[in-house]
Amino acid sequence: MASLDLLNIAVAVLILGLIAVLAYKKRIVTKSGLIAAFVVGIVVWLLTSWAWFFIMLSFFLITALFTHFKYQKKRSLGAAQEKSGARSWSNVVANGLLPMSFVIFGFILIFIGGGQDAYGRTDVGLGLYFIPFPVVAVTFAAFLGALATHTADTLATEIGLLNPSPPRLITKPWKTVPAGTSGGVSVLGLVATFLGCLIIGISAAILAAPLWVSLFGIAIMPEIVNFAPVTIVLVALAGGFVGCTIDSLFGATIQGMWQCQVCGKHTEKKSHCSEPAEFLRGNRYFDNNMVNLISGLLGAFIAVFLYLMLLGIGLA
Ligand SMILES: [Zn+2]
Repeated sequence: MASLDLLNIAVAVLILGLIAVLAYKKRIVTKSGLIAAFVVGIVVWLLTSWAWFFIMLSFFLITALFTHFKYQKKRSLGAAQEKSGARSWSNVVANGLLPMSFVIFGFILIFIGGGQDAYGRTDVGLGLYFIPFPVVAVTFAAFLGALATHTADTLATEIGLLNPSPPRLITKPWKTVPAGTSGGVSVLGLVATFLGCLIIGISAAILAAPLWVSLFGIAIMPEIVNFAPVTIVLVALAGGFVGCTIDSLFGATIQGMWQCQVCGKHTEKKSHCSEPAEFLRGNRYFDNNMVNLISGLLGAFIAVFLYLMLLGIGLA
């Protein structure tokens, strides 16, 4: 799963550095976001392979693209991301922490000898004990589930804002709420959710496809070459859809809401217009980042569950 040779480290640092500088120049990330994204990216790349990193990068690019898409219109709705949409470290951590943690966890399991390495050998690491499930494939399913949830959630918000009619509350569909309200759902947002999961699923399926073996005789992701492309797309779709729906349910119920003391807008963030906002309703510890984390975790759980189920009936 991991290759820590010098050439790999050099290439990773070079490409990540280049992307980070470009992202900063294009104002996709702030300075703190740049450092956080670099750390998350390098950990994922070095503990797995460049392919896993590129799946993560597709999340990063697609969400950045849609954050900037019709930014002025979203700003006029008062619902646009702050700082011209540039993501700070807290946003990078909220979206990157889970996929990175799964990769670290999978790496540790393999290191202590709990599974197979990239080539299906079970005698790697310390060989302390054997875990009777494919650690790399399960790690990959969890990784996909969390990433799909975060992509779907970000796209649902960014594209959903452009829905021609105001969204409806997921818990009370007969009630419309202002655009950008947590827990609000719209047709366009739903389409975006589907699209977000699909993008992650397809980019992963392409990289993992056995096609490369027949074309060039090498697998880009040899560690999961037995993971059928259709299964990968299904796992990403199921994980992302469930995770995103749970995110909306939390948003409509226990997520904390604040009111800006400057512009009067309701927000899911503790500060707005660079000033601390006043607490309105929900649970004040259950903020946007906490909701992201829990919904991502559940999205990952569903993805792993579906993968193991398909594996069990011989379809993975
Ligand atoms: Zn404000």
